Amino acid sequence: MAPRLATRPGLGGASGAPPGRDPSSPGTRGPAPATAAVPLAPGGGRQALTDWRPASASASASASAQEEGEWRRKHPDAVENFAQVVAGAAGRRVAVFLDYDGTLTEIVNEPDKAFMSEAMRGAVRRVARLFPTGIVTGRAVPKALEFIQLDSLIYAGSHGMDIKGPEPAAGGKLREILGGRKLEYQPAAEHAATIERVCEEMTRVVAGYAGSMVENSTFCVSVHYRNVAPELQEEMQGRVRHRLVELGGMKMNKGKMVLEIKPTLDWDKGKAVEYLVEQLVPEGAFAIYLGDDRTDEDAFRKIREWGVGAGVLVSQQAKETAAGFHVERPRDVLDFLTALAEWGEREGAGWWS
Ligand SMILES: [Mg+2]
Repeated sequence: MAPRLATRPGLGGASGAPPGRDPSSPGTRGPAPATAAVPLAPGGGRQALTDWRPASASASASASAQEEGEWRRKHPDAVENFAQVVAGAAGRRVAVFLDYDGTLTEIVNEPDKAFMSEAMRGAVRRVARLFPTGIVTGRAVPKALEFIQLDSLIYAGSHGMDIKGPEPAAGGKLREILGGRKLEYQPAAEHAATIERVCEEMTRVVAGYAGSMVENSTFCVSVHYRNVAPELQEEMQGRVRHRLVELGGMKMNKGKMVLEIKPTLDWDKGKAVEYLVEQLVPEGAFAIYLGDDRTDEDAFRKIREWGVGAGVLVSQQAKETAAGFHVERPRDVLDFLTALAEWGEREGAGWWS
């Protein structure tokens, strides 16, 4: 059940602002002038959301600028409007959930090289000292651990289907909450053998496509096609889809240049976050979730359902989302986490105890 993310601004339909909030002005980072029509430069500076428009769209520029202004009002910048993000947290226990790829690190061409910066690692460590913190990722837990190298976190790998809490000796807020309790849950455990078979099948199916890569994330299979010749990508996806239908019992979501194959199971990142909140903060938490892709929308929707908490979409493009807030890039996530740590250190004991 992948949410539909529009590639154009999410117009009209979805309500953007979190319940009970009154989004303020779109912020001061400088929305681009209505005439801006510069394609977004990869790795370029912090740019306004309007930059994604192709130059040929200048005729409708002012309408689009208006739509984007609307989108920014519905999903305010979480760094500029930090006080608004945590406004509902007073008197509640905060739990923090973070996607990895595209959130804590830039999307890279080689998924094996999605390394995290020391600054980001420091910020996550700092946040985890204050709040129970979990990584909710499509990656397998060992891979996520290898990248993040922090043992004070919960890792909900394979899209939340492999949940592992920290070792009892690890530090951070979780140690205090869990005591000696070991947190572990694998809702798809009985599907492990099927996954293994699907992984072998997919490796065979895409073998002829140079640049393709099949990753076994234990409870899901990722078929990467970022490095496959563009003219062959469609065909390759068709073959994967066809074989999956033959195999049955599996579902497929399309991520950023990757096909994510999972068992047909009513479980997603939203369910994982719900499970973790129940385990950690049974009286209910103010959950803060940051993520950049479609699968993160399940968690954003969960938070919206609760009416408590804050979803932050990492995106340089205006698109339909259930998140109440946005930031543009991983380096803004760093700013956000730093603000969160500073806020927690300042407010700390008052609301957590
Ligand atoms: Mg991601």
